[in-house]
Amino acid sequence: MKDPYEILGLDPTADIDTIKKRFRELSKKYHPDKNPTAQEIYKEIVIAYRLLISEKALSPANRHASRSLPTIPPERIHYNLSLINILSEGFKISRDFSTEDYLDHFQADITVELYKLELVLGYQIPLMIPTRQLCPVCEGHNEHCYRCQGKGFVTSTLTWPITLPSTTRPEEIVEIDLTPLKQAYPTLHIKRQSLRIRCQLLDHDKL
Ligand SMILES: [Zn+2]
Repeated sequence: MKDPYEILGLDPTADIDTIKKRFRELSKKYHPDKNPTAQEIYKEIVIAYRLLISEKALSPANRHASRSLPTIPPERIHYNLSLINILSEGFKISRDFSTEDYLDHFQADITVELYKLELVLGYQIPLMIPTRQLCPVCEGHNEHCYRCQGKGFVTSTLTWPITLPSTTRPEEIVEIDLTPLKQAYPTLHIKRQSLRIRCQLLDHDKL
């Protein structure tokens, strides 16, 4: 294999921020979304980037680096229902349909569009998990509160990165275990055990 620094056109003394900056520049130029004919070049770039990043991440000064693995753009993640509803099952469609019936119609909770290359290279899929917490200003006690407009709670979004197995096939539905998420955020009150994610490969006929 070629020298990863050479592939990225970097000096071996380059620090982690320089490596990330160069990767972003090269991604803009060679990502299959922009340049479908440059898949092999892009693959080399990603492999070189991951190699350098994981190398740097081994040094204690750069522990944050392991979090900077490539991620797919959020616009390629499609939520079939509001995730807060899916996670807590706290919604009603109609008297004739249960949550399960409704999700059976979609067969998956989330659809993700991925290039085969991204799957193989272990790209992260940043799931946006909606959360709500007691209003920190009025603690739920002031109907004129400027922060929560009297709702008593405020909402925010946390990003939970997941990775699909590299062996995932086109249209396959992968079950993602929610236990690690529940353990990391015990206040979320998640009832579901798993999320069903459909992988829609963007270029399975080419690769
Ligand atoms: Zn408030």
